[in-house]
Amino acid sequence: MKPLSRWSGALLGAAILAAGISGGSQEIAGIRGFRASRVESERELEQKLQSIPTAARAEANLRHLTSEPHMAGTDASRRVAEWLRDQYRSFGFDAEIVTYSAWLPLPLEVKLEMTAPEPRTLASPEQPFEQDPDTYDKRAVPGFNTYSPSGEVTAPVVYVNYGMQEDYRELESLGVSVEGKIVLARYGQGFRGIKAKLAEEHKAAGLILYSDPQDDGFVAGDTFPEGPWRPASGVQRGSILYTELHPGDPLTPGVGPNPSARHVLPADSATLPHIPTMPISAMDAAFILENLAGRHVPRRWQGGLPFTYHVGPGASQLHMKIAMDYAERPIYDVIAKLHGTNDHEWVILGNHHDAWVFGAADPGSGTASMMEAGRALGELVRSGWKPQRTIVICHWDAEEPGLIGSTEWVAAKRAELQEKALAYINTDVGVTGSHFSAAATPSLKEFVRDVTRQVGDPASKGTVYDAWRGHTARSFDEISGTARKAPKPEIAGEAPVGALGAGSDFSPFLDYAGIPSIDIGFGGDYGVYHSLYDDFYWMKHFGDPTFAYHAALARVLGVLALRLDEADILPFDYSAYASEISREQNELAARAAQEGTQASSLKPVAQASAQLSASASRASLSLRAVKATSIDPARAKELNRALVSVEQTLLTQGGLAGRPWFKHTIYAPGTYTGYAAETMPGVSESLDRNDPATLRIEADSLAAALRRAATRLDEVSNLARGAESSPAAGH
Ligand SMILES: [Zn+2]
Repeated sequence: MKPLSRWSGALLGAAILAAGISGGSQEIAGIRGFRASRVESERELEQKLQSIPTAARAEANLRHLTSEPHMAGTDASRRVAEWLRDQYRSFGFDAEIVTYSAWLPLPLEVKLEMTAPEPRTLASPEQPFEQDPDTYDKRAVPGFNTYSPSGEVTAPVVYVNYGMQEDYRELESLGVSVEGKIVLARYGQGFRGIKAKLAEEHKAAGLILYSDPQDDGFVAGDTFPEGPWRPASGVQRGSILYTELHPGDPLTPGVGPNPSARHVLPADSATLPHIPTMPISAMDAAFILENLAGRHVPRRWQGGLPFTYHVGPGASQLHMKIAMDYAERPIYDVIAKLHGTNDHEWVILGNHHDAWVFGAADPGSGTASMMEAGRALGELVRSGWKPQRTIVICHWDAEEPGLIGSTEWVAAKRAELQEKALAYINTDVGVTGSHFSAAATPSLKEFVRDVTRQVGDPASKGTVYDAWRGHTARSFDEISGTARKAPKPEIAGEAPVGALGAGSDFSPFLDYAGIPSIDIGFGGDYGVYHSLYDDFYWMKHFGDPTFAYHAALARVLGVLALRLDEADILPFDYSAYASEISREQNELAARAAQEGTQASSLKPVAQASAQLSASASRASLSLRAVKATSIDPARAKELNRALVSVEQTLLTQGGLAGRPWFKHTIYAPGTYTGYAAETMPGVSESLDRNDPATLRIEADSLAAALRRAATRLDEVSNLARGAESSPAAGH
């Protein structure tokens, strides 16, 4: 007889719920991935966990996190990291700070003057408001764009709407050139780094980004401090690093923080922009736009300022001067572990802790909530529970400049993570309202829905899931700081879980290391993104006045972690993944056929996708069969390992064409959108560029990845069947 373990020779499989079975319905009273005999104790554990997070504690956390501006590369960022480390130690975690050195600028001078038609000083500081003493804080960094070069330009201005690809096409059709001009672009529609890249590609001499009231100011609603939207003097800071090529330190592309790693020189970095760039407020932009000559803009280009916009050039002329102090500066990741019985399997949660100024919503709301999830897990351990696997909670530094803290950590630990990490759960702008939204790798979408069915929604008194399905979901869009439409539900009648693009710390985990990932948060009206006004006052008056949604987020995070930690067979669903791939593959094939380009290049993808679908359904059936019989712990471990590693088979070692850091063949941020996810990016972007040679290479690489995934799923089937007939676990 085998020695008694926590599995105690029981029929582990006896009622493991359909791990890996697609479909929207949850089996009543069961929990996906848990055998029947453990369901009750898991429910009790989850109840207990959910009873621990409080709104009051989350509020106290956020008050502390927002007590001073704490930008990456400053002493204040180190103080936040030390406080987080000490908090996790007090929760019972094994917590440490991992320090890296990163190439970071501090702005010395960011000056803008109008020289014609009349002299005027622009780039004014954000206005303080009596109601909110924090807005008088002298330590707030002025508006600037991280990774702008230093430089000085005097030139006429051209207004380029959002400054995206289609806008430049339109300008061309109007016969307006931006060469040698200062380009004025409004925020929105795409990542600001793409706007900088495009301005540079079109030979502009400088770039000014501004927040138009139509996008996140008074046209959207009441402005701060009367409402949640951006006031006229509000400035959106932010990085313009070319992260669509690779995130992380611009001088250590893809090599991680190893001190012996070859650093490239700033002049040779592929991700550092080359033209002076700065952000300004709507108030300052109004002076420039109102005085701009030239033809009036196309109808869609008109924003919310009360006069007719003109394209320029003419009349308005600007002098911009930017002086940056670039240096290697220390950054501080906080890594906190709650060790499990099995220290070789990790469930990882993370959010960044650096902020442009106070960062109440971005990232403080996510941090304050994640801390409550951590405290709850620590309390369970105090009351006698031992995690089955190790739970790792990470608070990254230098996310805002370019996902640096997470990217360097993942690069340094890639092999270990690919061996041990089961999943990465991210939250960033955790709470700006009451509307839950999620994005995830398809294998984990149904799991996210399952968990939100267990957590109460503060306002409706139903579950988070019911509220999520019920509302016309709007979620925060890091591109513009405005609400956006939710993705289409991938299963009719179910709440939609989106695709992971970029723009937060899940990117290195998924795109570079192939770790299955989830990103969640509660969204709402949020116009103060990356400004002085994203502070405690904003959260207390608009975002989450009672902090009930912070507590709810802590519960969702806690239960996600707990279930992955405790599941007998991990709740990964590859049938869902295979059907998403098949759907995307069909769309791409239709597009290729329509454009008459090289439809034959996509044949191998169609074949491999069909093979993957067949293997995924066989694996699902085998996993379903496991529940009718028994399985021993060693085999369960093997089976879990195989299930997790399917995601890694979708990586291609050489990466995508032109951007080798991005190794995932199914997901990447779009080269010309930045944040939004591009599905099957290699193939899709070759079609966009009408590049048949690259299309063939990328299609073959995608097909090979799909075949690898199919083979791995066949191994899952074999392991599940072997498990079924294993004499060791015998009756
Ligand atoms: Zn953030």
